[in-house]
Amino acid sequence: MSAFSLPATFRVKQRASKLFVMPRIRALDAAQPFDYEARIMEAHEKSSKLKIGIVGFGNYGQFLAKALIRQGHTVLAHSRSDYSDIAVKIGVSFFRDPHDLCEEHPEVILLCTSIISTESVLRSLPTQRLKRNTLFVDVLSVKEFPRNLFLQILPQEFDVLCTHPMFGPESGKDGWKGLPFVYEKVRIGSDEYKEDRCQKFLDIFAKEGCRMVEMSCSEHDRHAAESQFITHTVGRMLGKLELQSTPINTKGYETLLNLVENTSGDSFDLYYGLFMYNVNSTGQIERLDAAFDSLKRQLYGHLHDILRKQLFGNGKGSENLQRLAPPAVSRNGYGQEATACEVKQ
Ligand code: NAP
Repeated sequence: MSAFSLPATFRVKQRASKLFVMPRIRALDAAQPFDYEARIMEAHEKSSKLKIGIVGFGNYGQFLAKALIRQGHTVLAHSRSDYSDIAVKIGVSFFRDPHDLCEEHPEVILLCTSIISTESVLRSLPTQRLKRNTLFVDVLSVKEFPRNLFLQILPQEFDVLCTHPMFGPESGKDGWKGLPFVYEKVRIGSDEYKEDRCQKFLDIFAKEGCRMVEMSCSEHDRHAAESQFITHTVGRMLGKLELQSTPINTKGYETLLNLVENTSGDSFDLYYGLFMYNVNSTGQIERLDAAFDSLKRQLYGHLHDILRKQLFGNGKGSENLQRLAPPAVSRNGYGQEATACEVKQ
């Protein structure tokens, strides 16, 4: 029977109503197939919803919870701090005690804690109170670290999905369309229920229009160190300069101001986690350092050339010194009148 075909008793009833019943009742009958379809649709909708327990209900946990609620999922939460009031406003059931949250048997535990607290939070979670086949998902901005932690700490029966929605409350404030969502199905049981549950979770982000990218955790960390860590580092460096908007902002300067705004909202714990828990980050900070040094050498090198021209270019009493000048200066014909503008050439 196809999803919307009618059961035999219903068809008989319909035929009978066509033959014998008054027009008023026929109209009532005509409405029933639609009612039946609506009920099937409703049952389908219900079955696509998940009961999700968020652990770590800070900035990012709340941001995700709003989307989950909007999509009709049941959301529970637990955090170190008491977020009961905020939870009520969003439509989330908040549990101060993690035991109580686990006893509600969410199908998915969504870990949204800071990177640096993840291990202690995971170890202190009373996983024995959960159903034996719960799906664990994380959203940490580094990926190999939680992957290894999950495999090491969680019982074998639990499924593991490592994800990184590569946007936050600032970059995703106008919707998530086209924004990358990276994931690796680290350990998903092969039975239909488990595969289906994992897919339902991924569909949450697909429905919002995210660009779904399946990628290994180690590959993610390699790319993220080159892109995300560099972005956060440059944003934080510029933040320390306390740049101000001016009446003559260029497009490039506006981009820098946006970068500062985009990265300054994130906690230092998050930034430190990107550095400490991604093996590729140290190399990137060294590269940044070397690149800045090389640029400075380039600039000061030009400056020295100009100073030398001024020192040696005028002849008077400087013939001897001139002989000591580097060949580049005498060959390139810079004269006494050389100006800073010539650095551009
Ligand atoms: P965060 O500073 O990285 O994490 C804050 C969360 O960690 C809060 O829920 C906080 O709980 C919890 N926490 C911190 N220290 C703890 C401890 N010692 N014990 C127990 N819980 C502790 O900021 P976030 O922006 O909310 O990020 C959360 C996670 O999402 C991180 O893993 C981050 O990498 C990831 N993520 C963030 C973004 C983003 O744009 N912000 C984007 C993608 C992924 P309390 O508030 O209850 O103290």
